[in-house]
Amino acid sequence: MDSADIANDLTEVLYTKDQIAARLAELAAEIDRDYADKNPLLVGVLNGAVMVVADLSRALKIHCEMDWMAVSSYGSGTQTSGVVRILKDLNAHLAGRHVIVVEDIIDTGLTLSYLMQNLATREPASLQIMTMFRKPAAIQVELDIAYVGFDIPNQFVVGYGLDYAGRYRNLTGVGILSPAIYS
Ligand code: 5GP
Repeated sequence: MDSADIANDLTEVLYTKDQIAARLAELAAEIDRDYADKNPLLVGVLNGAVMVVADLSRALKIHCEMDWMAVSSYGSGTQTSGVVRILKDLNAHLAGRHVIVVEDIIDTGLTLSYLMQNLATREPASLQIMTMFRKPAAIQVELDIAYVGFDIPNQFVVGYGLDYAGRYRNLTGVGILSPAIYS
């Protein structure tokens, strides 16, 4: 689905499919350099990061592995509460592995902050974060983020894996959801 298919649902298209692909290629080149011969484990946070992991992994020229976690961040509507529950844990053991946690979006950072503390206890050789989108104005915790796709305004966005009420994940670009849809 492209933004033209749902033009009335968005107030603005922030990034198109092609702009996202171009930025991902740049990040992949950085990761290729940083992780040459390290066979990193990409940890995708379900469901939003599915598109990022799928595209990032294929843009890499180095070997990598993938694993998935699902967390729920007890929130309602468009707000995060910061209380996190692990719904699906990793299959892989992290001890000695070079781990890159791949996120769709970092908003308050509360969800990821919890996750990073949890993953750090599993003794990975290294632990870094890659996120496709970040809202600098919304961040509430210190997080060292090694790879950022785009900094975006503090508004609720959908597309490229990001949903509202389960929909819009299959939008190829990313845009600001019209408040008319959720108010
Ligand atoms: P955080 O804990 O950083 O506030 O955000 C956790 C989760 O909230 C994200 O992984 C994402 O699932 C969701 N989220 C935060 N901001 C947005 C947004 O603008 N759009 C959508 N669709 N989800 C968001």
